[in-house]
Amino acid sequence: MRYSRIPDETIRRLPIYLRGLILASEHGQKNISSSNLADYVGVYPWQIRKDFSYFGDFGTRGVGYDVKKLTKEIKRILKLNNEQKAALIGVGNLGMAILAFPGFSIYGLNITAAFDVNPKKIGKKIKKITIESISKLGTIKQRKIKLAVMAVPRKAAQETADVLVKMGVRGILNFSPSYLVVPKKVKVITIDIAMDMARLPYYMPVS
Ligand code: NAD
Repeated sequence: MRYSRIPDETIRRLPIYLRGLILASEHGQKNISSSNLADYVGVYPWQIRKDFSYFGDFGTRGVGYDVKKLTKEIKRILKLNNEQKAALIGVGNLGMAILAFPGFSIYGLNITAAFDVNPKKIGKKIKKITIESISKLGTIKQRKIKLAVMAVPRKAAQETADVLVKMGVRGILNFSPSYLVVPKKVKVITIDIAMDMARLPYYMPVS
């Protein structure tokens, strides 16, 4: 089932809810109210109820949401119910940190391959992943990798994205400070720490 009516803002919050539900489950909770979930995730209870109303009725008045059922449903919507394999392109300062970061696994995301252009890096092993030559990028098609994390310099970003798309990648998490042109069937999410930080002073109270 596809939920075409779910707004992007709601989709953006689903991983946050998922993290809250996982925490609640670790605390032994079988049910959770919207206000209790709000305490875990810092989103207003009314917003949580509104978001969940887009994909069905999972709450029971006085009891709350069934933690297991809701976790399963959110994973299904996000297509995280099966492990999603991802490739990392560019294993520099940022790429190394991404490879070492354990936080992807709670969402069922698994970086299973890493590629770089630097011969000194090729063959090195980081957290069970051996860095491969970028010339081997074509193998991700046979390996059924549909997601990629790009941490290459800006000048290499578009050409890397072009190859990824050709190899069947359908989702790119882009850390390069560049706008990528890709076909409609491919989703790019660009993360720019500097850009986010640049918004902060605006919100600072004048002292
Ligand atoms: P880095 O120079 O340490 O690493 C870049 C790596 O990419 C190197 O290992 C290099 O060999 C490799 N590379 C270069 N061309 C390549 C190609 N065509 N194919 C495969 N690998 C290639 O740089 P970094 O500090 O790790 O930053 C990486 C990228 O992330 C840059 O674009 C940088 O601007 C960006 N960055 C973004 C953020 C953010 O918040 N989004 C933060 C830091 C860096």
